Amino acid sequence: MRCARFRHQVDLMQDGALDQASTAKLQAHLDKCKKCLAYQQQSLKLRELIQQAPRPQVPSWLHHQILHQCKAHEPKRLRVRKKLRLQLVPATLAIVLSFVLGSLLGVTRFQMSALSNRVATDQVQEISFFGESTLVEDAFFGGGSGE
Ligand SMILES: [Zn+2]
Repeated sequence: MRCARFRHQVDLMQDGALDQASTAKLQAHLDKCKKCLAYQQQSLKLRELIQQAPRPQVPSWLHHQILHQCKAHEPKRLRVRKKLRLQLVPATLAIVLSFVLGSLLGVTRFQMSALSNRVATDQVQEISFFGESTLVEDAFFGGGSGE
């Protein structure tokens, strides 16, 4: 595995989102690779700094205003969601119908082509019989094209 993947796993491990087997592999890599170990230590330092940084205080009126706008927007969101669900039904039906019609068309086309191939081979045989007999007759009677 490449170092970039291990570094991504370092981030996952610090988030507590890495399973034990991957953590063991990562630890084995960190024991060998100084660059990834340095990345892990920098990442830990950065997390500590972020956690120590003072959190900005949001005024309560802003918090209430955001919540109020979310509540006002909720009916519109539900209408759009319902509309999307309703649009999903005809879209699904159209897809299913196109598959069914496509297969039916394909089956019909295949049967038609098989039938026409059978007819075509019969006609070819008739034509060849016709051609053979005229060639024989032409040769027998001195041929019409030679004169
Ligand atoms: Zn590495």
